Amino acid sequence: MSDLTPAASVSSYYAASARAFAGLPALQGEVRCDVCVIGGGITGLSSALELAERGFTVVLLEGRTVGWGASGRSGGQVITGYACEMATLAELTSRADAQRLWEMSLEAVDLVQQRVTRHAIDCDWRTGQLHVAIKPRQIAELARYQRSLAEDYGYPKLEWLEGAALAEHIVSPRYLAGLLDLRAGHLHPLNFTVGLAAAARAAGVRLYEHSLALRVTRGAAPVVHTAAGQVHARQLVFAGNAWLGRLAPELDSRIMPVGTYIIASEPLGAARAKALMPSDAAVTDINFVLDYFRRSADHRVLFGGRVSYSGITPPDLVASMRRRMVAVFPSLADVRVDYAWGGFVDITLNRAPHFGRLEKNLYFAQGFSGHGMAITGLAGRLMAEAIAGDSSRLDVFARIPHRAFPGGRWLRTPSLMLAMLYYRLRDLL
Ligand SMILES: Cc1cc2nc3c(=O)[nH]c(=O)nc-3n(C[C@H](O)[C@H](O)[C@H](O)COP(=O)(O)OP(=O)(O)OC[C@H]3O[C@@H](n4cnc5c(N)ncnc54)[C@H](O)[C@@H]3O)c2cc1C
Repeated sequence: MSDLTPAASVSSYYAASARAFAGLPALQGEVRCDVCVIGGGITGLSSALELAERGFTVVLLEGRTVGWGASGRSGGQVITGYACEMATLAELTSRADAQRLWEMSLEAVDLVQQRVTRHAIDCDWRTGQLHVAIKPRQIAELARYQRSLAEDYGYPKLEWLEGAALAEHIVSPRYLAGLLDLRAGHLHPLNFTVGLAAAARAAGVRLYEHSLALRVTRGAAPVVHTAAGQVHARQLVFAGNAWLGRLAPELDSRIMPVGTYIIASEPLGAARAKALMPSDAAVTDINFVLDYFRRSADHRVLFGGRVSYSGITPPDLVASMRRRMVAVFPSLADVRVDYAWGGFVDITLNRAPHFGRLEKNLYFAQGFSGHGMAITGLAGRLMAEAIAGDSSRLDVFARIPHRAFPGGRWLRTPSLMLAMLYYRLRDLL
């Protein structure tokens, strides 16, 4: 698959403000371990860390550098729940499984904060995340969401905001109402990911960068082949997100890589940034193609949005992203955009996460559908639990049914573009 923006992670605000992390060597020659993890994003690093803490010997292969993928480029919003609605999960599974999935999403958010504290990860964690309504019908949608979480899932913690109460968090003419979640929050995703890598190494994980897994020999004693070496393992974890491709065709057919983009304004100074988002909560609207934004620790606005179903970066990216930002914050019409970058999210057909086993010693977690900052960490924990002998929690996810994208590898893109057109029109109406 073509690389959306090979240079993008390099030119991103996150790369420019990353904490120092010494590069790691590429794999050379043969190594042996209990578990080989493929992918150095949060999913892979979390599973490697949890496995090492359970006493397994672990080798992790990252094809580029730690955090190169979505984990190091993301909007950094650590959000409860999933990309699809809880009602969808209840329909796909059962009411009881949906309840467990909701509770695990809360555990996922708490796990991020616990790891930040436990491993002293310097990643600008801030509490508070806000969902906002742009249109009157979205007010009703937000109210339904709040009621359902309180009544059906026992989560009465979302705070309803309108008028002056909303302006304590977001000062914009665009929004009519909001729901504040103080269990959620936001962070610098690349620094968090790199911090996880340091924790995994300290726990004994052997981590190799620039070590793309080119081929996997499956079986009772699987072997992962890179250009210059081989890993002999008893179990494998696939955590390559949108980039696994032909390494695992069964997984590739169930996700679709979709590009999404972020710009970073010039530093605005503390007072100007605070005047826009006084409480420092992160914000996301509830359009299908949504805007998501927050303040950075050095007082920029990091503004995310747009999507590319073709995987091709839109030619007018910076200008169109700036227009979206100015629609939310008209006072930013004159500010400079210092950075713009993109990355792929791995969406599934139903937007529910896709975790499980391909064979009895081959685990995977993917399909976070743009909502993975928290759930990735939990996915790693669940795969480690399963490898250690208790798959009961991973199985709750594995029971979610998933279908391949229609059209196969080549035609899934036009099919998806057509389907998405419907939702884009709905956003506009
Ligand atoms: C621009 C953007 C904004 C986002 N904003 C948010 C947000 O605000 N909140 C939220 O919850 N989620 C957000 N997401 C989604 C979230 O970032 C992802 O769901 C999450 O980071 C996925 O983590 P991962 O570890 O599964 O995958 P990745 O972080 O993509 O890591 C996969 C890694 O595997 C490596 N790899 C792949 N194939 C191989 C191979 N064959 N051999 C070796 N290595 C390989 C890749 O190089 C990559 O580093 C966003 C995503 C993007 C792109």
